Amino acid sequence: MSATDYLVTIGLEVHCQIKTATKMFCSCRAGFGYEPNTNVCPTCLGMPGALPVLNEHAIERTILAGLLLGCRIPEVSKWDRKNYFYPDMPKNYQTSQLDLPLCIGGGVPLYEWSFPANAKPQSTQDGIVRRVRLDHIHLEEDAAKLTHFAGYSLVDYNRGGSPLMEIVSAPDIHTPDEAYAYLKSLQQIMVCAGISNADMEKGEMRCDVNVSLRPRSQEKLGSKIEMKNINSMSAARRALIYEIRRQAEELDAGIAQVQSTRRWDDSLGESIVMRTKENAHDYRYHTCPDLIPVHTAPLVQRAQEEVPELPDARRKRLMEAYGLPSADATTLVSDTSLCAFFEDLVREGAPARKAANWVLNTLTATLAEKGISASDCPLTPAALAELIGLVEQGVLSTSQAREVLDSMWVHPELSAQVAADSLGYKKADAGELEAMVDAVLAENEDMVQLVREGNAKLVNALTGKVMKAANPKPNPKLVTELILARIKNEPATRVS
Ligand SMILES: [Zn+2]
Repeated sequence: MSATDYLVTIGLEVHCQIKTATKMFCSCRAGFGYEPNTNVCPTCLGMPGALPVLNEHAIERTILAGLLLGCRIPEVSKWDRKNYFYPDMPKNYQTSQLDLPLCIGGGVPLYEWSFPANAKPQSTQDGIVRRVRLDHIHLEEDAAKLTHFAGYSLVDYNRGGSPLMEIVSAPDIHTPDEAYAYLKSLQQIMVCAGISNADMEKGEMRCDVNVSLRPRSQEKLGSKIEMKNINSMSAARRALIYEIRRQAEELDAGIAQVQSTRRWDDSLGESIVMRTKENAHDYRYHTCPDLIPVHTAPLVQRAQEEVPELPDARRKRLMEAYGLPSADATTLVSDTSLCAFFEDLVREGAPARKAANWVLNTLTATLAEKGISASDCPLTPAALAELIGLVEQGVLSTSQAREVLDSMWVHPELSAQVAADSLGYKKADAGELEAMVDAVLAENEDMVQLVREGNAKLVNALTGKVMKAANPKPNPKLVTELILARIKNEPATRVS
């Protein structure tokens, strides 16, 4: 038999860091980029006698995620201790949720555009290919970050105790492409709602995949093989493709699969067995005696007021309201602050397609170069709209406008016009510019003649001569147009 003769069942457990100011059970600062082991206190370091205090905002954000994904929110949710001994968890237990999580059921829509570029499904009417059922979403605390070196390991407790949402799918995914689309959809929903930055490269979203195979005639699911902490969507897809083939080959050879955890090595492109799988009872879960159960009603009400536009609706709106192509709208949807910047830019009067080009090309490149997001952009949408206006009016060429943009980046207090003026880029007086063009053409009769005979390249040289002579600098495109108009329309008068 080949892989296609088996039924494939895939389940995903996605850990998503929730955007909050403080940790889950103490007032330590949450987030990245701080000196190791500086955001810690007796509670998140697990000192005896230190008591936890719930982060209400993190609970509300988890409920919001549940509402977005159509989950049922039970009236009461409780906390459990998952016991395990490891250096990344100084209390020797993780506060988590076992049997009364915050969100139950629901599903993740697989949007047509969430699939990998080379595996787009046939088009569907409303853009949703299917909905993958969820088992539940629970909230827990993150573990500390371990970094392993040859012979020793370092541990940073800054991350320990940060709020972490675990989104557990039902075994309802059938192909590696669907797993990819599931992760992509989930990421965009989290980003759109501002619940998490969900950047897999930064570990803000991490995923455990499990996969089992069974012959088509068999009803009972096959043995589940799990691969933990996969840190990109394409790696998850690769890992699943590999694992399905490996299991099919072993089953063909009569080798039964044993429930186990394997490590996916993306650089080698193979999975390596780590251990046979522990079961829930190995963790000796028990109700946390330090935390009272959460009565969800007031938080559900608050979250309901915050339900945002979902990525698919936002994408459709961007395409319809602004006439953007599908690819541009998809890119904007995946970055909330960039999308907000784009919409502000249009509100400030920039034509939508031009605004999208500027945002997705020039602005994105500059932001990436500086390592900041659109929400920290020193340039206001109003200032960029003014700059785009100068290009539209023909005052500036696109490359001149890029230079002006660089200058405004350093001096955000300058208006686009002032920044352009200071670089010597001004809309030339039409009469003066024509006179200058005429003078250059008169001085270069031989070149003009060659242009007339079909040497189009020399137009650029003539443009260069005008640009060199002009001060302030006009838009070179305008100069070229003027030169061509002069050469085409006035040969008779000039020659005779
Ligand atoms: Zn703390």
